[in-house]
Amino acid sequence: MRAQPQASHFIGGAYVEDRGGESFESRYPATGEVIAQLHAATPKVIDHALEAAQAAQAEWAARPPVERGRILQRAAALMRARNRDLSELETLDTGKPLQETLVADAASGADALEYFAGFAATVTGQTIPLGRDMAYTQRLPLGLCAGIGAWNYPIQIACWKAAPALAFGNAMVFKPSELTPLSALALAEILTEAGLPDGLFNVVQGMGEVGAALASDRRVAKVSLTGSVPTGRKVYAAAGAGLKAVTMELGGKSPLIIFEDADIENAVGAAMLANFYSSGQICSNGTRVFVHRAIKAAFLERLAARTSKIVLGDPLDEATQMGPLVSAAQMEKVLGYINAGKASGARLVYGGARVGVQGNFVQPTIFADVHDDMIIAREEIFGPVMAVLDFEDEGEVIARANATEYGLAAGVFTRDFARAHRVIGQLRAGTCWINAYNLTPVEMPFGGVKASGVGRENGHAALEHYTQLKSVYLGLGDVEAPY
Ligand code: NAD
Repeated sequence: MRAQPQASHFIGGAYVEDRGGESFESRYPATGEVIAQLHAATPKVIDHALEAAQAAQAEWAARPPVERGRILQRAAALMRARNRDLSELETLDTGKPLQETLVADAASGADALEYFAGFAATVTGQTIPLGRDMAYTQRLPLGLCAGIGAWNYPIQIACWKAAPALAFGNAMVFKPSELTPLSALALAEILTEAGLPDGLFNVVQGMGEVGAALASDRRVAKVSLTGSVPTGRKVYAAAGAGLKAVTMELGGKSPLIIFEDADIENAVGAAMLANFYSSGQICSNGTRVFVHRAIKAAFLERLAARTSKIVLGDPLDEATQMGPLVSAAQMEKVLGYINAGKASGARLVYGGARVGVQGNFVQPTIFADVHDDMIIAREEIFGPVMAVLDFEDEGEVIARANATEYGLAAGVFTRDFARAHRVIGQLRAGTCWINAYNLTPVEMPFGGVKASGVGRENGHAALEHYTQLKSVYLGLGDVEAPY
């Protein structure tokens, strides 16, 4: 099984290789097979990408926005036409089942391209009356934006950053995660084919050092990272030193609160989606499932029964519902957390072990009787491990849900809408769901508070993060100088 790209990087509309860069491999997580060999970007390659982006940006920004949008629309159509190929590539790179990648990855990337394509031509400034004089504002691009991606949704992350950046007249240099380097290159090819001028979307590969080089380069006006909190702290600091704009989409340990009047089947389905979709490798997952004591037994029974039917196996088989974790290291990390859960006295209700000896498969795992101070209730696991905690009182559960450094997401299940809004209103999280979980349509802003991030992706909010305001004062009379 090979998915070898023509070369490691894509710069100025063409593939670029520099064998001087450290070599690394992409492996198929279901078997461990090497599917591609690449080289990390050398300083020369990084410089080439930044130069190409800078050179292309001004002409792009000067184009009528509707023309920029038309190119992004064409790219979205190409992505949809090639959804199967892109999904298979994403499955090989990430190990996520084709059943998921066919609907959630390139498709959501195309949604972002379409949304921002339409948005581009609607961007306007204000006129501000000032008596005799007046002022107006313009929304202008930032210039050169750097994007740095995580490995769980590679092409979606690339599109969520590139689509608004390009729509509003910026250029981008994107570094995918070293674990999933392939689909960003496919996106670059598609954008070029759709008519995007060379140099506006460039892909450079490599580890953290390559991301760090982008985040600290003086030519870069904005850095958008999707990654963990520790990486976020470093990238934010580097960007801050250069007074650059940032978007930080970081980790979480989000609460999902299920009240006694909730529809149990819906709540169970949401809790499973919130912990087992993409093998639990989703930043906004509701990994602390607070269940009201009155329905705890019924909830756990249905949860275990439905979880036992999950089809885990070959990700390329469309009947498979759950695949492996992205890497052997991530599997070991998750198994370590499962052991910590067992050792801390949490009750293992389902799963709790590796599956097979080949690939990075871990059973969907459910712990009940979890307490707030246990490691599995405090730290982001990023694997298929659900912690179920009991509660009785609304005020108590709100306080416990908020007792975390994270604030990415939160969910509430109840039939009482007054309670739903009252509770959501008190949860300190950037993205919330009522009687749903983990749905992230491009129309809705997405992002976190506290340690989970800075800024928002998607929706109208993205405009704030990929443009800057210019204010122009118009003096319409004589200058009144006191001297
Ligand atoms: P990571 O932080 O290890 O890496 C993210 C990216 O940052 C990679 O491309 C990596 O090479 C790069 N990087 C590492 N060190 C760097 C440095 N010093 N300077 C610049 N770049 C550097 O994260 P990961 O393991 O790839 O992804 C999992 C994490 O991402 C989880 O914490 C998850 O919650 C988070 N995540 C957040 C969102 C969101 O939208 N909030 C979405 C997906 C994943």
